[in-house]
Amino acid sequence: MTSIAENIRSIRERMDRAARAAGRDPGEVLLVGASKMNDAAACQAAIAAGIDALGENRVQEMTAKLAERAYDGAPLHFIGHLQRNKVRQVVGRAALIHSAGSLALLEEIHRQAEKQSLIQDVLLEVNIGGEESKSGFSPQALYAAAESAREFSHIRVLGLMAIPPAEREPHGNLPYFIKVSQLYVDISRNLYDNSFKYLSMGMSDDFEDAIAAGATIIRVGSAIFGYRQYQ
Ligand SMILES: *Cc1c(COP(=O)(O)O)cnc(C)c1O
Repeated sequence: MTSIAENIRSIRERMDRAARAAGRDPGEVLLVGASKMNDAAACQAAIAAGIDALGENRVQEMTAKLAERAYDGAPLHFIGHLQRNKVRQVVGRAALIHSAGSLALLEEIHRQAEKQSLIQDVLLEVNIGGEESKSGFSPQALYAAAESAREFSHIRVLGLMAIPPAEREPHGNLPYFIKVSQLYVDISRNLYDNSFKYLSMGMSDDFEDAIAAGATIIRVGSAIFGYRQYQ
């Protein structure tokens, strides 16, 4: 069995290779550990091994692990589906919310951030496969949503996040990654003065293709922490 530190080292090597092959600077891609269902000790092992941030999916699990100081030493990101009634527990705790996927959610994030007198960094989630089961803005609705999001004074939109459909073919997600990347460049340039920093896409099985398409954040779970046991 390999350790979390060894896994992170080998992922970093693969990230560097993928970035160089795409003519990109390897330093511009961040590795976020998707730490759902892994305990505080595993989170701390990843932080000791130099992970750039940890990402959580569920508010309840994040809150419990915060109390155990699981994330001390690295930024905490929220990457999972976020319900409006749980926004209050995430704003101000997560350095970056990847999953802002509706105007109602943005409105609530803005409201809670205003209450706490802070500005919350977020990414707009795009449902790039147009799947019923997934949240996020449809590619068609994204541009108008990104335009509306500029009005929320307590939100700073720093980019986009996407989870493409589960693909079985090798490189099956590459066309989706390329589409998201085009939306990212277009919206950053036309609506945000080229200020976007984060294009969050790519997981354990496809992060090299995401980097080839322009990802600046990859979210990796099982390749770091091992396979999750679902009950
Ligand atoms: C779990 C998860 C990941 C990581 O998935 P792996 O396939 O285990 O790397 C990435 N992003 C989100 C939103 C996740 O929930």
